[in-house]
Amino acid sequence: MTEAPKCIGCGSIIQTEKVGEIGYAPISSLEKEEIICQRCFRLKNYNELQPVSLTDDDFLRILNGLGTQKGLIVKIVDIFDFNGSWLPGLHRFVGNNPILLIANKADLLPKSVKKNKVINWMKHEAKKLGLSPIDVLFVSAHKGTGMPEAIEAIEHYRKGENVYVVGCTNVGKSTFINRIIKNVTGEDAVITTSHFPGTTLDMIEIPLDDKKALYDTPGIINHHQMAHYLDQSELKYIMPKKEIKPKVFQLNSEQTLFFGGLSRFDFIKGKRSAFTCHIANDVPIHRTKLENADNLYKEHKGKLLAPPSEEFIDLFPPLVRHEFKIKDPKTDIVFSGLGWITVQHGDVIVAAHAPAGVEVSIRPSLI
Ligand code: GDP
Repeated sequence: MTEAPKCIGCGSIIQTEKVGEIGYAPISSLEKEEIICQRCFRLKNYNELQPVSLTDDDFLRILNGLGTQKGLIVKIVDIFDFNGSWLPGLHRFVGNNPILLIANKADLLPKSVKKNKVINWMKHEAKKLGLSPIDVLFVSAHKGTGMPEAIEAIEHYRKGENVYVVGCTNVGKSTFINRIIKNVTGEDAVITTSHFPGTTLDMIEIPLDDKKALYDTPGIINHHQMAHYLDQSELKYIMPKKEIKPKVFQLNSEQTLFFGGLSRFDFIKGKRSAFTCHIANDVPIHRTKLENADNLYKEHKGKLLAPPSEEFIDLFPPLVRHEFKIKDPKTDIVFSGLGWITVQHGDVIVAAHAPAGVEVSIRPSLI
Protein backbone atom coordinates (compact mmCIF):
# COMPACT_ATOMS: atom_id res chain seq x y z
CA MET A 1 0.00 0.00 0.00
CA THR A 2 1.36 3.42 -0.85
CA GLU A 3 1.44 6.04 1.82
CA ALA A 4 -0.91 9.03 1.54
CA PRO A 5 0.96 11.97 0.02
CA LYS A 6 2.06 14.72 2.34
CA CYS A 7 2.59 18.40 1.73
CA ILE A 8 6.29 19.18 1.37
CA GLY A 9 5.67 22.50 3.15
CA CYS A 10 3.75 21.65 6.29
CA GLY A 11 3.64 17.87 6.29
CA SER A 12 -0.14 17.61 6.44
CA ILE A 13 -1.80 14.76 4.56
CA ILE A 14 -2.93 15.97 1.15
CA GLN A 15 -6.66 15.86 0.43
CA THR A 16 -8.46 17.09 -2.66
CA GLU A 17 -12.06 17.22 -1.44
CA LYS A 18 -12.42 19.96 1.13
CA VAL A 19 -11.31 23.35 -0.12
CA GLY A 20 -10.13 25.53 2.75
CA GLU A 21 -9.41 22.64 5.09
CA ILE A 22 -6.01 21.39 6.11
CA GLY A 23 -3.98 19.72 3.39
CA TYR A 24 -6.22 20.77 0.52
CA ALA A 25 -4.61 20.70 -2.91
CA PRO A 26 -6.27 20.61 -6.32
CA ILE A 27 -6.44 17.15 -7.94
CA SER A 28 -4.02 18.21 -10.68
CA SER A 29 -1.27 18.63 -8.08
CA LEU A 30 -1.30 14.88 -7.32
CA GLU A 31 0.53 14.25 -10.55
CA LYS A 32 3.52 16.22 -9.35
CA GLU A 33 6.47 14.60 -7.67
CA GLU A 34 6.50 17.08 -4.82
CA ILE A 35 3.07 18.03 -3.63
CA ILE A 36 2.41 21.26 -1.81
CA CYS A 37 -0.93 22.13 -0.22
CA GLN A 38 -2.75 25.22 -1.40
CA ARG A 39 -2.09 27.04 1.84
CA CYS A 40 1.69 26.55 1.70
CA PHE A 41 1.62 27.33 -2.01
CA ARG A 42 0.07 30.72 -1.37
CA LEU A 43 2.34 31.38 1.55
CA LYS A 44 5.42 30.51 -0.47
CA ASN A 45 4.49 32.41 -3.58
CA TYR A 46 2.53 35.37 -2.27
CA ASN A 47 3.60 35.59 1.36
CA GLU A 48 -0.11 35.45 2.05
CA LEU A 49 -2.06 33.41 4.54
CA GLN A 50 -5.15 31.46 3.67
CA PRO A 51 -7.66 30.70 6.37
CA VAL A 52 -7.79 26.99 7.16
CA SER A 53 -10.47 25.36 9.25
CA LEU A 54 -10.22 22.53 11.70
CA THR A 55 -12.21 19.71 13.12
CA ASP A 56 -13.11 19.49 16.81
CA ASP A 57 -10.42 16.89 17.56
CA ASP A 58 -7.71 19.09 16.16
CA PHE A 59 -9.14 21.96 18.15
CA LEU A 60 -8.71 20.05 21.40
CA ARG A 61 -5.19 19.07 20.47
CA ILE A 62 -4.30 22.69 19.84
CA LEU A 63 -5.79 23.83 23.12
CA ASN A 64 -3.87 21.12 24.94
CA GLY A 65 -0.70 22.15 23.16
CA LEU A 66 -1.06 25.78 24.15
CA GLY A 67 -0.95 24.92 27.84
CA THR A 68 2.43 23.21 27.44
CA GLN A 69 4.09 26.19 25.79
CA LYS A 70 5.34 29.34 27.46
CA GLY A 71 4.27 32.53 25.79
CA LEU A 72 1.69 35.18 25.19
CA ILE A 73 -1.65 34.02 23.81
CA VAL A 74 -3.28 36.57 21.53
CA LYS A 75 -6.92 35.77 21.12
CA ILE A 76 -8.77 37.41 18.24
CA VAL A 77 -12.54 37.81 18.40
CA ASP A 78 -15.02 39.38 16.02
CA ILE A 79 -16.48 42.46 17.69
CA PHE A 80 -19.81 41.66 16.02
CA ASP A 81 -19.73 38.07 17.13
CA PHE A 82 -18.15 38.01 20.54
CA ASN A 83 -19.90 34.86 21.70
CA GLY A 84 -19.75 33.14 18.33
CA SER A 85 -16.03 33.69 18.12
CA TRP A 86 -15.27 32.46 21.61
CA LEU A 87 -13.10 29.38 22.04
CA PRO A 88 -14.88 27.38 24.68
CA GLY A 89 -12.56 26.03 27.33
CA LEU A 90 -9.59 28.20 26.33
CA HIS A 91 -9.15 29.40 29.91
CA ARG A 92 -8.79 25.82 31.18
CA PHE A 93 -6.04 25.00 28.72
CA VAL A 94 -3.78 28.03 28.64
CA GLY A 95 -2.11 27.32 31.97
CA ASN A 96 -0.45 30.40 33.39
CA ASN A 97 0.06 32.05 30.05
CA PRO A 98 -1.26 35.60 29.78
CA ILE A 99 -4.01 36.27 27.24
CA LEU A 100 -4.29 39.45 25.24
CA LEU A 101 -7.79 39.87 23.86
CA ILE A 102 -8.10 41.64 20.53
CA ALA A 103 -11.47 42.48 19.05
CA ASN A 104 -11.37 42.84 15.29
CA LYS A 105 -13.63 44.56 12.74
CA ALA A 106 -13.87 47.82 14.71
CA ASP A 107 -14.42 49.61 11.40
CA LEU A 108 -17.99 48.23 11.34
CA LEU A 109 -19.01 49.97 14.55
CA PRO A 110 -20.93 53.21 14.10
CA LYS A 111 -18.94 56.33 15.07
CA SER A 112 -21.33 56.99 17.95
CA VAL A 113 -20.08 53.90 19.80
CA LYS A 114 -17.85 54.75 22.78
CA LYS A 115 -14.56 52.91 22.80
CA ASN A 116 -14.30 52.58 26.58
CA LYS A 117 -17.82 51.12 26.75
CA VAL A 118 -16.87 48.44 24.21
CA ILE A 119 -13.77 47.59 26.21
CA ASN A 120 -15.69 47.41 29.49
CA TRP A 121 -18.30 45.18 27.90
CA MET A 122 -15.64 42.85 26.48
CA LYS A 123 -13.86 42.61 29.83
CA HIS A 124 -17.16 41.80 31.49
CA GLU A 125 -18.08 39.13 28.92
CA ALA A 126 -14.61 37.58 29.08
CA LYS A 127 -14.87 37.35 32.85
CA LYS A 128 -18.31 35.74 32.59
CA LEU A 129 -16.71 33.12 30.35
CA GLY A 130 -13.91 32.50 32.83
CA LEU A 131 -11.10 34.45 31.19
CA SER A 132 -9.15 37.36 32.64
CA PRO A 133 -7.23 38.96 29.79
CA ILE A 134 -4.26 41.14 30.70
CA ASP A 135 -5.52 43.73 28.26
CA VAL A 136 -8.29 44.29 25.75
CA LEU A 137 -7.74 46.15 22.49
CA PHE A 138 -9.72 46.67 19.38
CA VAL A 139 -8.51 46.93 15.84
CA SER A 140 -9.55 46.89 12.26
CA ALA A 141 -7.20 44.43 10.62
CA HIS A 142 -8.90 45.27 7.35
CA LYS A 143 -8.20 49.01 7.53
CA GLY A 144 -5.15 48.85 9.76
CA THR A 145 -6.59 51.03 12.55
CA GLY A 146 -5.27 50.12 15.97
CA MET A 147 -2.67 47.76 14.47
CA PRO A 148 0.46 49.70 15.57
CA GLU A 149 -0.94 49.76 19.12
CA ALA A 150 -1.74 46.05 18.96
CA ILE A 151 1.76 45.23 17.76
CA GLU A 152 3.23 47.37 20.53
CA ALA A 153 1.05 45.65 23.13
CA ILE A 154 2.10 42.20 21.87
CA GLU A 155 5.76 43.21 22.16
CA HIS A 156 5.18 44.59 25.64
CA TYR A 157 3.21 41.67 27.08
CA ARG A 158 5.18 38.81 25.55
CA LYS A 159 8.15 39.67 27.79
CA GLY A 160 10.64 38.06 25.43
CA GLU A 161 8.60 34.87 24.90
CA ASN A 162 6.84 33.37 21.88
CA VAL A 163 3.43 34.57 20.77
CA TYR A 164 0.53 32.27 19.82
CA VAL A 165 -2.35 33.82 17.89
CA VAL A 166 -5.60 31.89 18.27
CA GLY A 167 -9.13 32.45 17.00
CA CYS A 168 -12.15 30.94 15.30
CA THR A 169 -12.52 30.99 11.55
CA ASN A 170 -14.00 34.21 10.15
CA VAL A 171 -12.83 36.50 12.93
CA GLY A 172 -10.22 38.01 10.62
CA LYS A 173 -7.21 36.19 12.05
CA SER A 174 -5.57 35.80 8.63
CA THR A 175 -6.11 39.47 7.83
CA PHE A 176 -4.58 40.34 11.22
CA ILE A 177 -1.54 38.10 10.68
CA ASN A 178 -1.06 39.39 7.15
CA ARG A 179 -0.92 42.92 8.59
CA ILE A 180 1.66 41.81 11.11
CA ILE A 181 3.72 40.19 8.38
CA LYS A 182 3.69 43.48 6.47
CA ASN A 183 4.28 45.72 9.49
CA VAL A 184 6.71 43.74 11.60
CA THR A 185 8.86 41.81 9.17
CA GLY A 186 10.82 43.28 6.34
CA GLU A 187 10.52 42.24 2.74
CA ASP A 188 12.98 39.41 3.11
CA ALA A 189 11.77 37.94 6.36
CA VAL A 190 11.71 34.17 6.29
CA ILE A 191 8.24 33.02 7.12
CA THR A 192 8.06 29.29 7.59
CA THR A 193 5.61 26.69 8.81
CA SER A 194 6.22 24.32 11.68
CA HIS A 195 4.22 21.66 13.44
CA PHE A 196 2.10 22.55 16.37
CA PRO A 197 3.73 20.83 19.38
CA GLY A 198 2.37 17.34 19.91
CA THR A 199 0.30 17.38 16.72
CA THR A 200 0.81 17.12 13.00
CA LEU A 201 -0.89 20.46 12.49
CA ASP A 202 1.04 23.15 10.83
CA MET A 203 1.27 26.70 11.99
CA ILE A 204 2.82 29.75 10.43
CA GLU A 205 5.96 30.93 12.13
CA ILE A 206 6.90 34.59 11.88
CA PRO A 207 10.33 35.29 13.36
CA LEU A 208 10.60 38.06 15.95
CA ASP A 209 13.76 40.03 16.70
CA ASP A 210 15.01 37.96 19.61
CA LYS A 211 14.98 34.43 18.11
CA LYS A 212 11.43 33.99 19.32
CA ALA A 213 8.48 33.75 16.97
CA LEU A 214 4.86 34.64 16.49
CA TYR A 215 2.80 31.55 15.61
CA ASP A 216 -0.49 31.56 13.78
CA THR A 217 -2.43 28.53 14.97
CA PRO A 218 -5.04 27.16 12.56
CA GLY A 219 -8.49 28.76 12.74
CA ILE A 220 -11.01 26.80 14.73
CA ILE A 221 -14.62 26.27 13.72
CA ASN A 222 -17.12 27.35 16.34
CA HIS A 223 -20.40 25.76 15.38
CA HIS A 224 -22.36 28.47 17.15
CA GLN A 225 -21.38 31.12 14.65
CA MET A 226 -24.32 32.38 12.63
CA ALA A 227 -21.92 32.49 9.69
CA HIS A 228 -21.80 28.68 9.57
CA TYR A 229 -25.50 28.46 8.87
CA LEU A 230 -25.29 30.56 5.75
CA ASP A 231 -24.00 29.79 2.32
CA GLN A 232 -20.82 31.60 1.34
CA SER A 233 -22.81 33.61 -1.21
CA GLU A 234 -25.08 34.96 1.54
CA LEU A 235 -22.42 35.74 4.08
CA LYS A 236 -21.83 39.13 2.51
CA TYR A 237 -25.24 40.23 3.79
CA ILE A 238 -24.40 39.68 7.41
CA MET A 239 -20.69 40.43 7.21
CA PRO A 240 -20.68 44.04 6.18
CA LYS A 241 -17.59 45.68 4.80
CA LYS A 242 -18.76 49.17 5.75
CA GLU A 243 -19.62 50.97 8.94
CA ILE A 244 -23.11 50.06 10.22
CA LYS A 245 -25.74 52.78 9.83
CA PRO A 246 -28.17 52.60 12.76
CA LYS A 247 -31.86 52.47 11.79
CA VAL A 248 -34.46 53.74 14.24
CA PHE A 249 -37.95 52.23 14.52
CA GLN A 250 -40.73 53.71 16.65
CA LEU A 251 -42.72 50.69 17.77
CA ASN A 252 -45.95 50.13 19.65
CA SER A 253 -46.17 47.10 21.85
CA GLU A 254 -47.16 43.92 20.01
CA GLN A 255 -45.12 44.79 16.97
CA THR A 256 -42.37 42.64 15.47
CA LEU A 257 -39.30 43.28 13.34
CA PHE A 258 -37.80 40.60 11.10
CA PHE A 259 -34.16 40.82 10.01
CA GLY A 260 -34.40 39.00 6.71
CA GLY A 261 -35.21 35.45 7.77
CA LEU A 262 -32.22 35.41 10.11
CA SER A 263 -33.77 36.62 13.32
CA ARG A 264 -36.77 38.36 14.80
CA PHE A 265 -37.45 40.91 17.53
CA ASP A 266 -40.82 41.25 19.33
CA PHE A 267 -41.80 44.31 21.37
CA ILE A 268 -44.24 42.63 23.72
CA LYS A 269 -45.10 45.09 26.45
CA GLY A 270 -44.33 48.72 27.27
CA LYS A 271 -45.01 52.29 26.13
CA ARG A 272 -44.47 53.29 22.50
CA SER A 273 -40.73 53.54 22.20
CA ALA A 274 -37.71 53.89 19.90
CA PHE A 275 -35.62 50.86 18.98
CA THR A 276 -32.32 51.45 17.19
CA CYS A 277 -31.18 48.57 14.98
CA HIS A 278 -27.45 48.08 14.44
CA ILE A 279 -27.55 45.38 11.81
CA ALA A 280 -25.58 45.03 8.56
CA ASN A 281 -26.91 47.63 6.12
CA ASP A 282 -27.87 45.00 3.54
CA VAL A 283 -30.15 42.94 5.77
CA PRO A 284 -33.73 44.01 4.98
CA ILE A 285 -35.87 44.82 8.02
CA HIS A 286 -39.56 43.96 7.86
CA ARG A 287 -42.11 45.27 10.37
CA THR A 288 -45.33 43.41 11.20
CA LYS A 289 -47.87 42.81 13.97
CA LEU A 290 -46.79 40.36 16.64
CA GLU A 291 -49.94 38.30 16.14
CA ASN A 292 -49.06 37.76 12.45
CA ALA A 293 -45.37 37.11 12.96
CA ASP A 294 -45.39 33.29 13.36
CA ASN A 295 -47.44 32.82 10.23
CA LEU A 296 -45.45 35.34 8.24
CA TYR A 297 -42.25 33.46 9.02
CA LYS A 298 -43.78 30.10 8.15
CA GLU A 299 -45.13 31.32 4.82
CA HIS A 300 -42.45 33.75 3.72
CA LYS A 301 -39.08 32.61 5.06
CA GLY A 302 -36.59 32.34 2.22
CA LYS A 303 -38.79 34.60 0.05
CA LEU A 304 -40.00 37.94 1.47
CA LEU A 305 -37.94 37.18 4.58
CA ALA A 306 -34.46 36.57 3.15
CA PRO A 307 -31.52 35.95 3.50
CA PRO A 308 -31.27 32.98 3.79
CA SER A 309 -32.76 32.44 0.34
CA GLU A 310 -35.18 29.66 -0.54
CA GLU A 311 -32.31 27.53 -1.78
CA PHE A 312 -30.66 27.40 1.65
CA ILE A 313 -33.54 27.95 4.08
CA ASP A 314 -33.99 24.24 4.82
CA LEU A 315 -30.45 24.08 6.18
CA PHE A 316 -31.06 27.07 8.47
CA PRO A 317 -31.80 26.16 12.12
CA PRO A 318 -35.24 26.98 13.58
CA LEU A 319 -35.52 30.27 15.46
CA VAL A 320 -35.48 29.99 19.25
CA ARG A 321 -37.26 32.58 21.42
CA HIS A 322 -35.44 34.39 24.26
CA GLU A 323 -37.57 36.72 26.41
CA PHE A 324 -36.13 39.68 28.32
CA LYS A 325 -37.71 41.99 30.91
CA ILE A 326 -35.76 45.20 30.58
CA LYS A 327 -35.71 47.74 33.38
CA ASP A 328 -33.03 50.17 32.34
CA PRO A 329 -33.27 52.51 29.38
CA LYS A 330 -30.55 52.20 26.72
CA THR A 331 -30.08 48.45 26.81
CA ASP A 332 -28.72 46.45 23.88
CA ILE A 333 -30.15 43.10 22.80
CA VAL A 334 -27.20 41.44 21.08
CA PHE A 335 -27.69 38.80 18.36
CA SER A 336 -24.26 37.23 18.10
CA GLY A 337 -22.87 37.49 14.58
CA LEU A 338 -25.61 39.76 13.34
CA GLY A 339 -25.70 42.96 15.39
CA TRP A 340 -27.79 44.50 18.14
CA ILE A 341 -30.93 46.49 18.92
CA THR A 342 -30.78 49.32 21.41
CA VAL A 343 -33.94 49.53 23.48
CA GLN A 344 -34.14 53.25 24.22
CA HIS A 345 -36.71 53.19 27.06
CA GLY A 346 -36.81 51.05 30.18
CA ASP A 347 -39.64 48.95 31.64
CA VAL A 348 -40.36 46.88 28.57
CA ILE A 349 -40.71 43.21 27.77
CA VAL A 350 -39.18 42.04 24.50
CA ALA A 351 -38.32 38.73 22.84
CA ALA A 352 -35.44 37.98 20.53
CA HIS A 353 -35.61 34.99 18.18
CA ALA A 354 -32.29 33.68 16.90
CA PRO A 355 -31.27 30.47 15.11
CA ALA A 356 -30.81 27.55 17.55
CA GLY A 357 -27.26 27.64 18.88
CA VAL A 358 -26.73 31.36 18.25
CA GLU A 359 -26.35 33.34 21.43
CA VAL A 360 -28.58 36.28 22.41
CA SER A 361 -27.50 38.49 25.32
CA ILE A 362 -28.13 41.91 26.80
CA ARG A 363 -25.71 44.67 27.82
CA PRO A 364 -25.78 48.39 28.63
CA SER A 365 -25.82 50.39 25.39
CA LEU A 366 -22.41 51.06 23.81
CA ILE A 367 -23.52 54.55 22.78
P1 GDP B 1 -10.01 34.08 9.49
O1 GDP B 1 -10.90 32.95 9.08
O2 GDP B 1 -10.16 34.39 10.94
O3 GDP B 1 -8.59 33.91 9.10
O4 GDP B 1 -10.59 35.38 8.77
P2 GDP B 1 -10.19 36.20 7.47
O5 GDP B 1 -8.98 37.02 7.70
O6 GDP B 1 -10.21 35.30 6.29
O7 GDP B 1 -11.45 37.20 7.43
C1 GDP B 1 -12.79 36.73 7.45
C2 GDP B 1 -13.67 37.80 6.82
O8 GDP B 1 -13.68 38.97 7.63
C3 GDP B 1 -13.20 38.25 5.44
O9 GDP B 1 -14.34 38.48 4.65
C4 GDP B 1 -12.46 39.54 5.74
O10 GDP B 1 -12.47 40.43 4.64
C5 GDP B 1 -13.25 40.09 6.90
N1 GDP B 1 -12.44 40.94 7.78
C6 GDP B 1 -11.24 40.64 8.34
N2 GDP B 1 -10.79 41.67 9.10
C7 GDP B 1 -11.73 42.63 9.02
C8 GDP B 1 -11.86 43.95 9.58
O11 GDP B 1 -11.03 44.46 10.32
N3 GDP B 1 -13.00 44.63 9.25
C9 GDP B 1 -13.96 44.12 8.44
N4 GDP B 1 -15.01 44.88 8.16
N5 GDP B 1 -13.87 42.90 7.91
C10 GDP B 1 -12.78 42.17 8.18
